[in-house]
Amino acid sequence: EDNCEYTGIVEECCCDYETINDINEGVLHPLLQELVKTPFFRYFKVKLWCDCPFWPDDGMCRLRDCSVCECSENEFPESFKTTSLNVLPKDDPVCQEGKPEAVVDRTIDVKSFRGWVEVDNPWTNDDETDNGEMTYVNLQLNAERHTGYTGPSARRIWDAIYSENCPRYAYGETCTEKKVLYKLISGLHSSISSHIAAEYLYDEATNKWASNLRLMHNRVLKHFDRVENLYFTFLFVLRAVTKATSYLDQAEYDSGNHVEDLRAQFLIRELVHDSRLEEACALPFDEAELWQGQGGPILRQQIQNQFRNISALMDCVGCEKCRLWGKLQVLGLGTSLQILFSVDDQGNPDPDLQLQRNEVIALLNLLNRLSESLIYVTKMRDEVAKDIGLI
Ligand code: FAD
Repeated sequence: EDNCEYTGIVEECCCDYETINDINEGVLHPLLQELVKTPFFRYFKVKLWCDCPFWPDDGMCRLRDCSVCECSENEFPESFKTTSLNVLPKDDPVCQEGKPEAVVDRTIDVKSFRGWVEVDNPWTNDDETDNGEMTYVNLQLNAERHTGYTGPSARRIWDAIYSENCPRYAYGETCTEKKVLYKLISGLHSSISSHIAAEYLYDEATNKWASNLRLMHNRVLKHFDRVENLYFTFLFVLRAVTKATSYLDQAEYDSGNHVEDLRAQFLIRELVHDSRLEEACALPFDEAELWQGQGGPILRQQIQNQFRNISALMDCVGCEKCRLWGKLQVLGLGTSLQILFSVDDQGNPDPDLQLQRNEVIALLNLLNRLSESLIYVTKMRDEVAKDIGLI
């Protein structure tokens, strides 16, 4: 019980929603939207092979939109490959889904990760140093949106996450360390639901996509805690990105396309050095205080184990595209935890902090997803309010 002695997180955060929305809309969102399109940030290495350690695969997903469009062999930037195949990246890659040439390029491996360490992230279940079953996915061709993945398979995953690995804390719980995991997962869940609501497939035959206000209202907006947790998760990841500033500043963004790589570097610097972030939201929570109490290390270990289980559950997601984004976002959260809990007791980042290239890609793409979700929540709340019939 008494593993927890300090509280570091300012629950009713010093930033109100309006301030956060202003920073997001004015600074972060435009930069992130550009950043994730650059070649360095749009290719994510992932093990998509469904290898569920808990239940047999039940192949629940029915829509074509569930499948991931993998990169065709000649699409990657040259520097991602081990051997030169003498093919230049296409300027305008098209989705190869369903075509025989959409083979997975297994020639890519660690040698392309010049300037980047290869370490396993202790917060995730996948071994990130094992490239054997990894494939590259162009995230720009695989939007996170409605896929039709629903029913017992999807429900089983969320149930296992909430009931076994991060139960909702008791009302009146004051130990912030015990709340952090639930809040992060709930915030991520709100973000996933927001993306489903923002791009919903109404009719597969005519390919009609539109926003679904009712779904947004029922799953996210009418639950104040889910909205709050979304903001919390956004601030948590943003805090991790700003804590890793010096690392991100010096990292090598090399995809072989010099002009685009300079652009990625420029955008990252603009983002992490924007003084408005610090001014408006100086201390969303104080990570220096976390885990410092007696019993803190045990609690931290417990949370790490729970998070690893959640990460393992991603292999049971029966829809490939949901699995892709589930894995990316869990790795992004794991990277944020890694960064924020490697600080010393003054809150200074660990000077030896080392991140993998794929972790940085996951971290920034996760921040972009959360930033989009804040925009959807704000916009759709106004629309729901106008459409009284929905409430
Ligand atoms: P669910 O969203 O499945 O929620 C289940 C239960 O969890 C709810 O009844 C509620 O009690 C609780 N809950 C819901 N939201 C929160 C919250 N924010 N905080 C705390 N508790 C909450 N579907 C897609 O169409 N596209 C995707 O990209 C996609 N990605 C997914 C990724 C993962 C990792 C998983 C597990 C599922 C994904 N799904 C995706 C499926 C989607 O999340 C839903 O499970 C599905 O749409 C069915 O929704 P539902 O109404 O049953 O409620």
